[in-house]
Amino acid sequence: MDTITDNLQAVKARIGAAAQGCGRAADDIELLAVSKTFGVDAIRGAYAAGQRAFGENYVQEALDKITALQELQIIWHFIGPIQSNKTRQIAEHFDWVHGIDRLKIAERLASARPAAMAPLQICIQVNIGDESTKSGVEPAAALKLAQSIMQLPQLRLRGLMTIPPASHDTAVQRNQFAQLRRVRDDLTAHGIPLDTLSMGMSADMEAAVAEGATMVRIGTAIFGTRQTA
Ligand SMILES: *Cc1c(COP(=O)(O)O)cnc(C)c1O
Repeated sequence: MDTITDNLQAVKARIGAAAQGCGRAADDIELLAVSKTFGVDAIRGAYAAGQRAFGENYVQEALDKITALQELQIIWHFIGPIQSNKTRQIAEHFDWVHGIDRLKIAERLASARPAAMAPLQICIQVNIGDESTKSGVEPAAALKLAQSIMQLPQLRLRGLMTIPPASHDTAVQRNQFAQLRRVRDDLTAHGIPLDTLSMGMSADMEAAVAEGATMVRIGTAIFGTRQTA
């Protein structure tokens, strides 16, 4: 087996063990393979091993890969920061978008999503305990943004995502992910149906699964260390 196939199996084993440890079904946690900075050969390798959902952060890099891999049945997730001048390309080429934290961006995606395509699947990004970045809506503002997004055509609100500040302390990781789960519970209590909690990366997927993640976004543990630009 090649490295990517091995790594995918190891990641699935980690997710499976974490799920078992808290009485969840491993099938309830979807694995999103984050392929940013890696080439189409790496994606083909993971695809050959059965992986179908891939996450990308940079629009131009992603469009090149999407074009090159058109014949594959890939579900493409945009997980990077969204610039308003890139919303049309994102709306036309992706299946999911995880980083919505402003109504303006959601409106632009809604109006750019071609009518012939399925609705764009949306996660609202929530800022959990990270004062160093402004990306993500504050927890207290998530309900209002969710209610507004629900009114927009061609978008389907699926859930919430977060990128908490990195910590090696499992208790801190769990506390951060629990905060996102509580925001989800609050929105659900207000009648907003959400089935997705997008949280957990290579270093903290176990804590995320323990706190209810339904989708983990894994790059390094599948493809290896990224070369920083
Ligand atoms: C890069 C990235 C990931 C993957 O991180 P790893 O630590 O490599 O698993 C997950 N989510 C987002 C939003 C990312 O930008």
